[in-house]
Amino acid sequence: MENCIFCKIIKGEIPCYKVYENDMVLAFLDINPVNEGHVLVIPKKHHRDIFEIEEEYLCEVVKTAKKISLKMREYGIDGVNIFQANTEAGEQTVFHYHMHVIPRKKDDGINFSREMLRHLKKMDPDQFESMRKALEI
Ligand code: AMP
Ligand code: ZN
Repeated sequence: MENCIFCKIIKGEIPCYKVYENDMVLAFLDINPVNEGHVLVIPKKHHRDIFEIEEEYLCEVVKTAKKISLKMREYGIDGVNIFQANTEAGEQTVFHYHMHVIPRKKDDGINFSREMLRHLKKMDPDQFESMRKALEI
């Protein structure tokens, strides 16, 4: 897709620090890493977000995130966060589907979960039940 920065990376028009690719996905270092070794996994076909991505591409992205996590563990990390943003409301900034794979060390000073805890909502049982009904598939 024209004007998509990740499509340009796929076409080789913009450089990247590639760590893996196959015919469906590309994985490369995030240019603004949350931690050293922060990787993005993207489908080689443009899809905007989770609502659009074809399942076979999504599966390949997830499989690749696992491969990369295993490689990170070999390298010596203690853990990994896998994260993925969709739409402006979901704080997505690059509108080509991507999965963040963020290596973690004990005591690395990053506090994803504690940061999220600051935004907890209070819900009563009726609200839980009506959400459950709304989301039940
Ligand atoms: P998100 O906010 O989830 O949409 O993430 C977009 C990510 O893309 C950010 O973490 C950026 O640092 C990263 N990013 C943007 N441009 C590039 C680039 N040219 N090479 C590598 N990573 C990039
Ligand atoms: Zn794209």
